[in-house]
Amino acid sequence: MDITLNELKTRLMEINDLNAAESVLSWDQNTYMPPGGAAARGRQLATLSRLAHEKFTHSEIGGLLNDLRDYEESQPYDSYEASLIRITRRDYERAVKVPSAFVALLTEHASTTFQVWTEARPANDFAKVRPFLEKTLELSRELSDFFPGYEHIADPLIDFADYGMKASTVTKIFSELRRELVPIVHAITAQEPADDTSLHQHFPEPLQWAFGMEVVRLFGYDTNRGRQDKSPHPFTTSFSVGDVRITTRIHENNLSEALFGTMHEAGHAMYEQGIDPAFEGTPLANGTSSGVHESQSRLWENLVGRSRGFLEHFYPQLKKVFPAQLGNVSLEKFYRAINKVSPSLIRVEADEVTYNLHVLLRFDFELQMLEGTLEVRDLPDAWRERFKADLGIAPSDDRNGVLQDIHWYFAQIGGMFQGYTLGNIMGAQFFEAALRAHPEIPDEISKGKFDTLHEFLRENIYRHGSVYTAEELVKRVTGNPLTIAPYIRYLRKKYGEIYELE
Ligand code: ZN
Repeated sequence: MDITLNELKTRLMEINDLNAAESVLSWDQNTYMPPGGAAARGRQLATLSRLAHEKFTHSEIGGLLNDLRDYEESQPYDSYEASLIRITRRDYERAVKVPSAFVALLTEHASTTFQVWTEARPANDFAKVRPFLEKTLELSRELSDFFPGYEHIADPLIDFADYGMKASTVTKIFSELRRELVPIVHAITAQEPADDTSLHQHFPEPLQWAFGMEVVRLFGYDTNRGRQDKSPHPFTTSFSVGDVRITTRIHENNLSEALFGTMHEAGHAMYEQGIDPAFEGTPLANGTSSGVHESQSRLWENLVGRSRGFLEHFYPQLKKVFPAQLGNVSLEKFYRAINKVSPSLIRVEADEVTYNLHVLLRFDFELQMLEGTLEVRDLPDAWRERFKADLGIAPSDDRNGVLQDIHWYFAQIGGMFQGYTLGNIMGAQFFEAALRAHPEIPDEISKGKFDTLHEFLRENIYRHGSVYTAEELVKRVTGNPLTIAPYIRYLRKKYGEIYELE
């Protein structure tokens, strides 16, 4: 069996190398590549992704997986060997169901649509991108249909990002959340909004950069195995366990965007850096789902970074970096500024409380479009109506409405958004478990110490990579299935204090 397993590992390593090379090219495209490189880069990325897909869907991989079936069953479920075979088989069976020609068609259509969207968005011209989006919807349905037997047509697409989740399970969790969330939003927005003018002064870029990096190094982001660069849209990318990079974007008139953005990406990156090095080059060396990934970024960004304890240690230092801007701003005032809750149009700029309403809207629309109960041409109006109902405001143009997020214009419709809110819910559940095991964590945070929390997450979440599904991981770490209760407790406690909720 050793020979068969080694043969599989050798092949997986080769596929991993092609994927990693593709990631390096794509990182470069988003950071340093001059515009003249675009056409050739598109082709180079397509070549690598085709080679990787061909190698992975090769019948010999199927043969090896077949030969290893008995061996897999003889090993403990969460052993390295059994997990490697199980997760490879899951990915393989998924990959071979979609014909290569369809993958190429979808990739090409996505890249054309992305190009049109980059022009349509600033021009506020939904009509221009509409026919492309209609085609995307058609292709998204076809993609689902390669996985017959689903309960809802969105299920296979949700399953790609959040394995094991279905439209019905997510809908149930989200409607419970909505029931709890809407009254909190209403109670807060009925009050005077917090004053956040202190965040919108001139903050020179190099100082913002240095402060953000200092914070995430203390969180435990290892810069010997990572680095930060600038990009138009912040992201995290992993080339290996030893090289996990983040990017940021800095606005000199907005202190919170880069600072919290850097914490967010470092949360994703620490997860990838913390994976067991023995998994290197295999499908186990990835975060297990989009929800769990997002739980780690949101945990560091919000539960840690936007906490009062965090400020007790870091705010005096921040004032030293920006004495003219923050010298007269009290900690309490700054705390309220970075936790200001008010309805806004743009998801990525939304506060912790209203953020989920942005996600729920997109998730529901994805289901409705796939079901055929919402036409692409009716999307802009539906967007405005739903916004008005949920948040009391509505965008006057599509640029700040349906055109704002890249997802539908760069991939498919379906499965694109649930991970963000699942991440908020799981993040709070994991954090509560960490505090139960180590009640000293809040005190340590207020002293600028993060090793206990980081070590808890590394031991219980990071190192396992994709060995456990999101469902298994939540159960193992917290002792309970996924539940919104900790997240609601967290929001009520924190915002109840800031806003005097009853
Ligand atoms: Zn994220």
